[in-house]
Amino acid sequence: ATPMSIMVGTGRAAQLGVLFRKGEALQQLRDASIVAFDKTGTLTEGKPVLTDLILDDEFEHDEVLALVAAVESRSEHPIATAIVAAAEKAGLALGTVTEFTSNSGTGVTARVDGRLVSVGAERHMSHLDFSDFADAIGKLAAEGKTPVFAAIDDKLAAAIVVADTIKPTSKAVIEALHGMGLKTAMISGDNRRTAEAIAAQLGIDEVRAEVLPADKVEAIKSLRKNGSVIAYVGDGINDAPALAEADVGIAVGSGTDAAIESADVVLLGGDLKGVLNALTVSRATLRNIW
Ligand code: ADP
Ligand code: MG
Repeated sequence: ATPMSIMVGTGRAAQLGVLFRKGEALQQLRDASIVAFDKTGTLTEGKPVLTDLILDDEFEHDEVLALVAAVESRSEHPIATAIVAAAEKAGLALGTVTEFTSNSGTGVTARVDGRLVSVGAERHMSHLDFSDFADAIGKLAAEGKTPVFAAIDDKLAAAIVVADTIKPTSKAVIEALHGMGLKTAMISGDNRRTAEAIAAQLGIDEVRAEVLPADKVEAIKSLRKNGSVIAYVGDGINDAPALAEADVGIAVGSGTDAAIESADVVLLGGDLKGVLNALTVSRATLRNIW
């Protein structure tokens, strides 16, 4: 493409709410063969709500929710926001938090009025026995809900389940990408069964789940293995390295500054139809059809 056609293309894209930060991204996007998506906040709204709290019989509902919410009040994770909102709605008083630690991609731990409280994925407390919860959790995860666990003084106290909503246009966008001859993938830190359920609802071809933030880059590299050109769409701080690693990094405009700064293409707002607009413009520009 000529510099002139690139200029026209980026201008046309801007009118459609797609900001190309470098002209060469137009060319790379035209050559993309796989579009990989982050799940939470990209394919979904990223605003989960607490739907279920499944208790071990030695524990009491409000006590567990208050302890867990106290720890989560120190975290910015969407799951934390959902849990704190549920405790607030129940009118629970939160205790004093000390020794807070956050292990990005697995969970959080702190003392609440002296009691040791951990909240997170199974891998955050993998020495505990989850078998009593397996059936209930399996069923909820198969519905696309996200289970996390609460341990209090090193005893498994509850499974806490949150549900996020798929964005209204996500499914149509995946279908349209397939119609344009592209493959789709999802890369998520979430539970495998949850991620697979959401991917199945959307018709996504390939899923990489339980991926730690630091390993999203490796996931991009593994998708690229057979010579595929990868576009990656994400919104979070966690997505910044993957956006930089992908051949074309596409940040959702409603996302974090870190994601936007690492991207080659920025979509205005949260609507994933911008991905289709970006592709359409890249293909048209390289055919010089303006
Ligand atoms: P993603 O944004 O793709 O879900 P993250 O790396 O942010 O990935 O989180 C992965 C998983 O780690 C979550 O699904 C959850 O199980 C656990 N986790 C991380 N932070 C928290 C937290 N503050 N509270 C509970 N669980 C958490
Ligand atoms: Mg996200």
